[in-house]
Amino acid sequence: MQQKEIPQCASCSQHILDKFILKVLDRHWHSKCLKCADCHALLADKCFSRAGNVYCKEDFFK
Ligand SMILES: [Zn+2]
Ligand SMILES: [Zn+2]
Repeated sequence: MQQKEIPQCASCSQHILDKFILKVLDRHWHSKCLKCADCHALLADKCFSRAGNVYCKEDFFK
């Protein structure tokens, strides 16, 4: 019984079987699920977090 734990996506709650798992705010995300809370742009490259939400650079600083 040595099953590896499969991380769950913080956005869609599905298990993440992707090769690359994003870890933001101590939670795991599919690369396609990490999106700006405001404009829903994909944030695979970089993101900014505030109060438990992630934002793109523009929405974070506006
Ligand atoms: Zn997901
Ligand atoms: Zn945005």
